[in-house]
Amino acid sequence: MAQFDYDLFVIGAGSGGVRASRVAAAHGAKVAVAEEYRVGGTCVIRGCVPKKLLIYGAHFAEDLHDARRFGWDVPECSFDWTVLRDNVLAEVDRLNKAYTSTLDSHGVEVLLERATVSGPNEVTLASGRKVSAGKILIATGARPAVPQCPGHEHGITSNEVFHLDHLPGRVLIAGAGYIANEFAGIFNELGSKVTLINRSDVILRGYDEQIRDRLLQISMTKGIDFRFHAEFKGIEKQADGSLKVGMTGHDDIEVDLVLFATGRVPNTEGLGLAEAGVTLDDKGAVVVGDDNRSSVDSIFAVGDVTNRVQLTPVAIREGQAFADSEFGDKPTLVDYGCIPAAVFSHPPIAGVGMTESQAKQKYGSVKVYTSDFRPMKNVLAGRNERALYKMICEPNSGKVLGLHMIGPDSPEILQAAAVAVKAGLHKDAFDQTVALHPSMAEELVLMK
Ligand SMILES: Cc1cc2nc3c(=O)[nH]c(=O)nc-3n(C[C@H](O)[C@H](O)[C@H](O)COP(=O)(O)OP(=O)(O)OC[C@H]3O[C@@H](n4cnc5c(N)ncnc54)[C@H](O)[C@@H]3O)c2cc1C
Repeated sequence: MAQFDYDLFVIGAGSGGVRASRVAAAHGAKVAVAEEYRVGGTCVIRGCVPKKLLIYGAHFAEDLHDARRFGWDVPECSFDWTVLRDNVLAEVDRLNKAYTSTLDSHGVEVLLERATVSGPNEVTLASGRKVSAGKILIATGARPAVPQCPGHEHGITSNEVFHLDHLPGRVLIAGAGYIANEFAGIFNELGSKVTLINRSDVILRGYDEQIRDRLLQISMTKGIDFRFHAEFKGIEKQADGSLKVGMTGHDDIEVDLVLFATGRVPNTEGLGLAEAGVTLDDKGAVVVGDDNRSSVDSIFAVGDVTNRVQLTPVAIREGQAFADSEFGDKPTLVDYGCIPAAVFSHPPIAGVGMTESQAKQKYGSVKVYTSDFRPMKNVLAGRNERALYKMICEPNSGKVLGLHMIGPDSPEILQAAAVAVKAGLHKDAFDQTVALHPSMAEELVLMK
């Protein structure tokens, strides 16, 4: 008789949980995964994927406009939010099924209900059923944080934004991180009047200053309003359904939608972790070692719930490393160096490695190479929008410490260049590479 019902019980079928489940099962473990909402998790159901599809949809506004300069006779176009929304949601349904069938085909038992931890080797399901497992993996992700101002219930978060009945005429977005700036771009391109408010005057903290300043300037030119040093006083729903928002330091504003993009908190509330002896940090994140093990030997955690790097590819790597280490006899540590990241704004930003100020703090002085250019396509389109690429190098050796860019397709370009940065290449290697002309990416090997 087996000692436990399962070798591994995973709570949360998102990016990290799905990868860990199917890899552990492929290594021969008996695995179950509980999911309280939809298999696929945040990225697939209400994060990266539907967001990127909305970004593609929104970008047609510029493409259709610019097409005229390229000779196309584009009649006055109108946009139907419900068509885009429904097509995006249908794609999410398709992916949800694909993820479920991957788990099925690996022999992972999927339990569509909430689960909580009731002991070092015990999980209690919402149905009341208790199951035992040799190891428990917490992969419950994170959820949007909402400021607790009066009337906050009238606002929505990224959880609801993909389901709107209609495109709002006026949108207030709270926050200045990547989700706030991405949705500011989406709504602005689709024709809504967008105001972004933030407690400080810094957008995209953690990204290179010059790059984020460039986005701020372009976003303002495109018509997005920014209100800085503003905190919510309250949101009042008016008789006509509109929302009157009071904030510190600025006049009241009337809008049709308030979107909170004010950070994400690890999903550990009511999970029974502290009671089981699992150490949480002051934000509620599960504290784990390099091997993803918590303070309780049999309980592990991966992904956003650990609040290390809240990105899908990182959660996937952590899930893979956990499963290979614990069930595949292949101890693996995730390498957190040089993780590329992007903001799918209009235009997008992408970066890898140290920003100029981070590098200066570490090395004192650094060598910075830039290319500040107007992409060829923008020139013909009459679009006065400049791209900026920056390479930060170690002053003596010329080793590339960071690469940061804003401009069309920059995430696509950066992913390839990130390989060079990760490999520890020097500026020389870029200089010695012949440019691929004409492209925007060629600026990477022409930086002065
Ligand atoms: C709007 C938005 C856009 C994003 N865009 C990007 C992007 O462009 N690129 C990128 O890399 N990352 C992006 N992210 C972040 C990315 O989605 C997360 O980093 C990633 O999903 C984390 O994976 P995870 O496995 O840790 O958690 P999740 O994918 O969040 O999965 C956790 C799962 O656990 C379930 N769950 C929680 N509690 C329980 C419980 N008690 N019982 C059962 N189930 C439970 C949840 O329902 C959820 O399905 C975005 C996030 C958002 C919100």
